[in-house]
Amino acid sequence: MNVICILCDTPFSPTSSQKRRLRKHPFRIFLCPECDQRIAQQTKQRLSQSVPKQETDHSLDTRKLSNLDRRN
Ligand SMILES: [Zn+2]
Repeated sequence: MNVICILCDTPFSPTSSQKRRLRKHPFRIFLCPECDQRIAQQTKQRLSQSVPKQETDHSLDTRKLSNLDRRN
């Protein structure tokens, strides 16, 4: 099974986690490992340059989730 990268149009075989997601969402678009890595590097660079702002949002989300757990 091959997936086509949205960035460079290169067919590549998806990783096991990508295969799992593909089964659930067959029309989902993926990046090849090369582009994935490139973007991960850019993201890491951006994150290291700017102060992470999402920490408060993240704690809010986990609080919401634990509330849901209690209700169930
Ligand atoms: Zn690519």
